[in-house]
Order: sequence, then C-alpha cells, then structure tokens
Amino acid sequence: MKYNLHTHTKRCNHAEGEDREYVENAIKAGMKVLGFSDHCPQFFPKKDYYSYFRMFPEQAFEYAESVRALQKEYASDIKILLGFEAEYYPETYDEFISFIRPLKLDYMLLGQHFVGNEYDEDSYYSAEKARGERFLTQYVEQVKEGLSKGVFSVFAHPDIVYFSGSPSFYRDKMTELCRFAKERGIPLEFNMLGYASKRSYPAPEFWRIVAEVGNKVVLGYDAHSPQMLLRDDMADECRRMLNVCGLSTIDFEEITLRNENL
Ligand SMILES: [Zn+2]
Ligand SMILES: [Zn+2]
Repeated sequence: MKYNLHTHTKRCNHAEGEDREYVENAIKAGMKVLGFSDHCPQFFPKKDYYSYFRMFPEQAFEYAESVRALQKEYASDIKILLGFEAEYYPETYDEFISFIRPLKLDYMLLGQHFVGNEYDEDSYYSAEKARGERFLTQYVEQVKEGLSKGVFSVFAHPDIVYFSGSPSFYRDKMTELCRFAKERGIPLEFNMLGYASKRSYPAPEFWRIVAEVGNKVVLGYDAHSPQMLLRDDMADECRRMLNVCGLSTIDFEEITLRNENL
C-alpha cells in the first residue's frame, strides 16, 4: 500500500503549495494514507531567538484545522493524518509537549536537525560536515532520549548526522542507535528528499547497518511541494537502493502510531 507520512506545508516558510494540492496529488499518486508532518513550532528560552524555518506557534491551530477539514472532506478517497516533524530539545521539551497537547495529533516524526539545540553557541546543525566523535555521540544520546519519550512514531532521516571520522566509530554508534530504535519498534525513515537532492543522507553505510540490525523501514517523501508526491520514479529508485542493502519498506499497518502520550 502506498503512503507517505512526511509532508510539509507552506507554513514552514520553505515549502510551497496549498494543503489541498498535497492531498489531491497524493490521491493522484494512488496513496491510501497521507500524513501531514510540517515542522513543528519549537520553544526557546532565549526570547530574542525566533526560528523562521518552521511554523510559528500561533499558526499551529489553523494548520490543525485545515488538515482536519481536509481529512473529513476527502475521507472516502484517502486517510489523512495530522502530525508534526519535531526536534527533541531536552531543555524545552515540557513546554513543547504542553503546547501541542490540545491539538490531539495523530502522530509525530522525530527529525533531529540540530545537535544540542538551535540557539546555543555550542549547538550544531546535524548535517554540518567535519564534526568529531563527541558530536556523533551527542547526536546518538540526544535522539535515544527523544525516542524513549514514547511520542515519536517514526524516526525521520536518522542518518542526517554527518560524520567524517573513523568508520568503525560510526559503525558502533549507529549500530547502538539502530538497536535502540528496533527495541522500541520505531521504524527508520529513508528520506527521499535527501536522496533526490543528493544530500549526505541517505548514507549507504548507515543503511547497511540497518539491514544488519533488522529495523523496520519506511520511505518518507519529505515533500516540500505537492509535485514531490507524484515522483514515482524517485520512490522506485529509493526502493531499489534499499533492496540493494537487503531492505524493503513496511506497510502502513505495521507502523504503531504513538499518540497516547501526545
Ligand atoms: Zn523542511
Ligand atoms: Zn521534513
């Protein structure tokens, strides 16, 4: 069954198109489930910091209303889910959870774009190159803590972290991370946007580890435009890449939507 749980909207300031166009293209593409997972508002202790690559807190309710209205309108054609792609920032996690609770989300993706957070000087963009062992260790510890909260249903682009050090160190750390996700039954996402735009992820060496550990895998379009949902060619290429590593994607029914703590 064709589905996608990684879909953005123009509210994050770096995606385009109307919510309805995403739904219509998903139907056109033959998808049975479309999950909206726009970049979630985050909260910052430094009040002079504002993040412009995710929706603002004041947009969240309008976003939820729009997705819920489409869910009703298209109920006979496609199952629509309301979600968010969120960071795990330990310092502001409680504030974040109390903010999203009234939205009654169907699911959340963990997308750890920053190691540490995005406002402190000793924090880093996860995909930034040439970082050392301490950085990779910090990434792994932070996402393990995030995944253990029981609020994330899928771990998006787990291999976003860029590491140029010792391959055996990478192997050990990422094996630890994959095992951790597997024990909790949280599938790992092979990110189609990263693949299509030739980013450092999906990283082949990571997916070989995934195959060894035996994680569940999903394909995430990471659509920032409605057109992305029509890229069957790209989706097929991603699946072929996974097959080369000895992996295949799971069906939607095999994903546990963890929303009881949301
Ligand atoms: Zn984005
Ligand atoms: Zn995304």
